[in-house]
Amino acid sequence: MKKTLITGAAGFLGSHLVNKFLNKGHYVIGMDNLITGNLKNIEEFIPNKNFEFHNHDVSKFIKISGDLDYILHFASPASPIDYLKIPIQTLKVSSYGTHNLLGLAKDKEARILVASTSEVYGDPLVHPQIEEYYGNVNPVGPRGVYDEAKRYMEAVTMAYNSFHNIETRIARIFNTYGPKMRLNDGRVLPAFIGQALRGEDLTIFGDGSQTRSFCYVDDLINGIYKLLMSDCETPVNLGNPSEISISEFAEEIIKLTGTNQKVIYKDLPLNDPKQRKPDISKANGILKWEPIVSREDGLKITYEYFKSLSIEELNKKEHNDFEKYITR
Ligand code: UDP
Repeated sequence: MKKTLITGAAGFLGSHLVNKFLNKGHYVIGMDNLITGNLKNIEEFIPNKNFEFHNHDVSKFIKISGDLDYILHFASPASPIDYLKIPIQTLKVSSYGTHNLLGLAKDKEARILVASTSEVYGDPLVHPQIEEYYGNVNPVGPRGVYDEAKRYMEAVTMAYNSFHNIETRIARIFNTYGPKMRLNDGRVLPAFIGQALRGEDLTIFGDGSQTRSFCYVDDLINGIYKLLMSDCETPVNLGNPSEISISEFAEEIIKLTGTNQKVIYKDLPLNDPKQRKPDISKANGILKWEPIVSREDGLKITYEYFKSLSIEELNKKEHNDFEKYITR
């Protein structure tokens, strides 16, 4: 039986990975310090004899007894508002945390896949983004703590690959959505759906002409699995190339939720990428992977999930300080 460590296991992507690897017959160790993760996301796995949970911060030394075959490093805050709330933890989890996990991979002779991000491209000047593009990142801007930590993550991962010969994989993950996303993390999709459910107007930052490309979580998880099992050691973009402007997206959410909300406009945050769309030719060629879930279908499933949450959850606004975020 393969043994796999998943960090960020109580988070959105981590909890879906736990499910995937248990279904693939692995013994799974889930690790999370629950800063942004939620035990509710993995409570269904707790009774499973092939699952154990460690409440641990990966930026501190990690001890795992016995063998380990695979490590997936998915611990990190992933919303721009979180980066401002917990900037030091954001830096540490992808720098010290990655370093610790690479050391563990070396010790256990395990293969490690790290979750990098489209944020390594910053506010991209090349469109769509290809893996060869180096990016346009402001190291001292509001997203710097995330972007630079993830860029360091890639650098230290490649260094362990070439210097210590450990097996490494780097996924550059573009905007992903689906059930178990945090309703109040400030990201655009849960923000819009939450606003619609509470009967509030939808807040568009800037004029809404900025674009994103949203990938349904099941598609992404399949891509991660294929990448881990492939022999590709250089970074691979994983995301859905179907691009949409934020104002069109707001219209889609209003249609989906059947509400009569209006949109209101707020200032565009500093360094907010103007456009984002993955070029997935590499994943397509090497992994024979491409997303198959349409935004229409994926959004319906996600909306049902958010609707099933309690009123308390819906009204628990973690981030009502948008102004602070924008003007920093
Ligand atoms: N956005 C918005 N209204 C919101 C939250 C976000 O218009 O309530 C915009 C944000 O400025 C960005 C896009 O939606 O242009 C996606 O933001 P998100 O925080 O989801 O992630 P990003 O892709 O920027 O990391």
